[in-house]
Amino acid sequence: MKTAFSSSPSLYPPLAESVMERNTSQKEIILDYLRRVTSHPSAEKVYLDVKNKLPRISRGTVYRNLKILKEKGKVLEIPTDVSRYDGNISNHAHFICQECGKIFDLFDFCDDCKILKNKKTKVGKINKYQMYFYGQCSKCKNGRN
Ligand SMILES: [Zn+2]
Ligand SMILES: [Zn+2]
Repeated sequence: MKTAFSSSPSLYPPLAESVMERNTSQKEIILDYLRRVTSHPSAEKVYLDVKNKLPRISRGTVYRNLKILKEKGKVLEIPTDVSRYDGNISNHAHFICQECGKIFDLFDFCDDCKILKNKKTKVGKINKYQMYFYGQCSKCKNGRN
């Protein structure tokens, strides 16, 4: 039997704070989702998957949060025909299959390329770089897709 003296948690926190908290946690849930998956999902896919967890989240909220996360450098945007997102911001290259559109991570593929960072060129200093390789993934090559 429950004690009658337990305080009601619904009294806390005050409204303004709970709204703020909700916005923060939506962004964190989106970021957490992106860090878990390696599929480099589109904004639409992020929306559909996060909606399973937060049924009331709107498409606009997801798109807005993705933009903020990208601007803060917490996620990468991969410019394919539809933008795709990556929660892994470590140095890695991407292999994009031109047939099925899948995006694969390539780690330690180009160690020497790290010299590009902070390199001074005639037109300015390089702060960051992203590398994309286009081809046919092994599944598509073997006709297994
Ligand atoms: Zn493929
Ligand atoms: Zn990636």
